[in-house]
Amino acid sequence: MPELVPVFTKDQIQKMVAAVARRISHDYKGRSLVLVGVLNGAFMFLADLVRELSIPAQIDFVRVASYGAGTASSGKINLTKDLELDIQNKDVLVIEDIVDTGLTLSCLIDHLKSFGPRSVRVCALLDKRERRERAVPVDYTCQVVKKGFLVGYGLDYAEDYRSLQEIYHLKL
Ligand code: 5GP
Repeated sequence: MPELVPVFTKDQIQKMVAAVARRISHDYKGRSLVLVGVLNGAFMFLADLVRELSIPAQIDFVRVASYGAGTASSGKINLTKDLELDIQNKDVLVIEDIVDTGLTLSCLIDHLKSFGPRSVRVCALLDKRERRERAVPVDYTCQVVKKGFLVGYGLDYAEDYRSLQEIYHLKL
């Protein structure tokens, strides 16, 4: 049986999300903010984040499949759901669950820029900075984490564990 080692509690996550939401609300006041959540992993983070914002925001999602049932990035992005909102001249904030090698995000940023937004920035719940292979700007990070495979709070392993309210290190 895989072992789940607790990393962040529900309370710690709630505090991280509220803190980053305060920064975003301050920085985007008076702007046309569009949050673009990266499915499936970011659904829970985006839902909590948007409720902590004190400014209006439009919401859209893209879906990127890259890991399949494994725990290592394939390096290719496979966009299985594209944007539906028009983001031309809008301020786009990509909402990611976790940035690892940076390959997914760098491909996604290039794709979003092709729609002519006013700006594209990134907010990640977790950042595995030491594993970065492609330099990508992560403008808002809730928490920097070390290597290791994390699950819970939207993060899955082969579609399991997403519904957990805490974040765990999965030891296979
Ligand atoms: P990257 O392209 O930066 O290597 O990978 C980014 C994506 O891989 C994340 O959006 C996430 O879906 C997945 N990923 C990276 N690290 C982890 C992890 O520790 N746990 C889980 N569940 N997914 C991860």
